[in-house]
Amino acid sequence: MIDFELTDEQKQLKETCRRFAEKEIKPVAAGFDAIVDPRESFPLELIGKGCELGFHTLLVPEAYGGMGGGLVDFSIMMEELAVGDAGVAFSYAATCAISRMIAANGTPEQCERWLAPFCADKSGEFALGFGGTEPSGGTEIFYPEGDPRFGTKTTAVKKNGSYVINGSKQFTTNAGQAKLYGCLARTDKDAPNFTSNSIFFLPSDTPGFSIGKIEDKMGHRASSNGALVFDNVELSPDDLLGEEGKGVEILLQTYHANGVGMGSLALGIARAAYEMAVEYAKERNIWGQPIIRYQAIGNKLVDMKMAIETGRLLIQRIAWASDQGKHGDDVNPSMAKVYASEVARKVTVDAMQVLGGYGYMKDYPAEKLVRDAMVTPIYDGANEVLRYFMSLEL
Ligand SMILES: Cc1cc2nc3c(=O)[nH]c(=O)nc-3n(C[C@H](O)[C@H](O)[C@H](O)COP(=O)(O)OP(=O)(O)OC[C@H]3O[C@@H](n4cnc5c(N)ncnc54)[C@H](O)[C@@H]3O)c2cc1C
Repeated sequence: MIDFELTDEQKQLKETCRRFAEKEIKPVAAGFDAIVDPRESFPLELIGKGCELGFHTLLVPEAYGGMGGGLVDFSIMMEELAVGDAGVAFSYAATCAISRMIAANGTPEQCERWLAPFCADKSGEFALGFGGTEPSGGTEIFYPEGDPRFGTKTTAVKKNGSYVINGSKQFTTNAGQAKLYGCLARTDKDAPNFTSNSIFFLPSDTPGFSIGKIEDKMGHRASSNGALVFDNVELSPDDLLGEEGKGVEILLQTYHANGVGMGSLALGIARAAYEMAVEYAKERNIWGQPIIRYQAIGNKLVDMKMAIETGRLLIQRIAWASDQGKHGDDVNPSMAKVYASEVARKVTVDAMQVLGGYGYMKDYPAEKLVRDAMVTPIYDGANEVLRYFMSLEL
């Protein structure tokens, strides 16, 4: 039997996140968006307030101090927070997906070492970051063929029982804010990319590790993205997550959470744009009546709503299947992100059109929502590349 009803806990989570977006995020979102220096636009205090409510630990099992939520919960939280601000939601999205990766692949000792202090933190200071993408390309690290010249360039070379990491990572979310970073590195650069990457985690104060350029982005300005630099960083085998050589495999497993999280975030941006456009269309009078009465505008708003509702059904179906352990499901989790991100781009541009000239001005959030939506088909795997991998399964 199909049941679309949220549980009581999920309804409560939705309401908590909706209220947080309304009362805490929305009033300050435009202010953080307008900060010119990207090194100063991370809303640490605001992120800390969400941490007090447990947002950062949503996907961590209760045994380690987390909320023990599933992907349906994640979809609910991400959509609601992104209605408030995409950048704020984005910081939690990265942190949650990474914590889930640790919980699913870490040894009990690693989970205790990495997740327990993270869950105990209520200040927002213990964010998590993960560096996969490199200056040579985010897609390059997923090179699926056998030629060892292609793929991840960062290396992890074994020396006297340690791993020595050299290389750099690009665009990492929460760069400069995170206390713990994950990193994808080649443990055997003479072997094919897919089977020679490994994942390591390291605290931000590890010798040889530093933060490079913090990016000045078009949107998502309340989040921090930047480079991670590894200069002879020495790590112990205890810092290796999962087995050596399984890094890309582990990363691909996270696409259930990433697809659901980033898809829902994109949907939240679209919903904010749709809600703003409906309100405006009811109040803007042209030729003696609200513009919502003109079919061209009314139909546009209906199309926006249909696209958002369709996106949510797809995402929550994928989230539900994952929560039930139904991984043989024929709906690839990347579909959630690809579909919803394209909805977000279209809906935000259409919303701007509904607002006419005001949509282009900074007085209304329409132009910010367009800027926030633009990146969603690019990050977390460019949509072209996700489609390419999905097409291989057909
Ligand atoms: C705001 C933001 C946050 C990010 N956060 C993180 C993070 O936390 N951690 C992290 O590791 N990365 C992060 N990224 C990186 C992101 O995942 C990459 O930008 C993305 O994977 C694309 O990589 P690229 O930008 O290097 O583009 P490229 O890989 O250089 O691709 C350029 C273009 O070519 C197309 N293309 C490339 N190869 C193919 C192919 N085989 N078939 C078809 N088309 C192809 C792509 O679709 C794209 O349009 C972030 C990026 C942004 C913008």
